[in-house]
Amino acid sequence: MQGKILKYDNPWIEQMPQWVKTATGRSVSLFQNLHRKDVKPYLFVGGVHGDEPEGVRLAEDFLLWLKTHSTENDHPWILIPCLNVDGFQKNQRTNSQGVDLNRNFPSSDWTFSDEKNRYYPGPQAASEVETQGLVNLISQSKPCVIIHFHSWKPCVVYTGETGQAYAEFLTQGNHYDSHPDIGYPTPGSLGQYGWLEHKIPVVCIEEQEAEPLENVWSHFNEGLIGLIQGKLK
Ligand SMILES: [Zn+2]
Repeated sequence: MQGKILKYDNPWIEQMPQWVKTATGRSVSLFQNLHRKDVKPYLFVGGVHGDEPEGVRLAEDFLLWLKTHSTENDHPWILIPCLNVDGFQKNQRTNSQGVDLNRNFPSSDWTFSDEKNRYYPGPQAASEVETQGLVNLISQSKPCVIIHFHSWKPCVVYTGETGQAYAEFLTQGNHYDSHPDIGYPTPGSLGQYGWLEHKIPVVCIEEQEAEPLENVWSHFNEGLIGLIQGKLK
């Protein structure tokens, strides 16, 4: 893992303000509470796509809650509020290199395409520093599930059958549908990478696109807090 670990204003949380530095020099930050060693952590990721502010807001509101409630008894967790900080700054899906990070993961189905559209997978798998950071983090921390926050049509999608229980747990409080796939192929996505390469289930939360940002936390707080409090057995 890169970057210095600093103290946070909650004593159980560690922060890495410069976990990854992007191609433009902007910092991606990471927060974690790995106090308990008996179970594998949850990994939460916001802002994979820079034009989906609902996902970043969900991660930030979750972090605010954790700041005041996180304890030594939490199910261990790692949270990246915004992976694609450059895209987020410009309200664009891709990163500063025009790459869709959710097509850049080194899964066995990664496919090259030189079409520079919104799904451009990059010149090669894991070409981007944001992707490399997450790939290294997954090998080091071995999360039991990866949950990333997006916006589109409201639903919760899981990759890998063991993701179903997490996906259904996260629909309490919003009654969104959960599905085993999004309905079209996503080679090189985080979901394909986690499940095909590591057998780690990956859950993709899709909030309603253009949902007022202040509503987002209320749709997922029950599920996310429940996970941290170990309510999903
Ligand atoms: Zn997205």
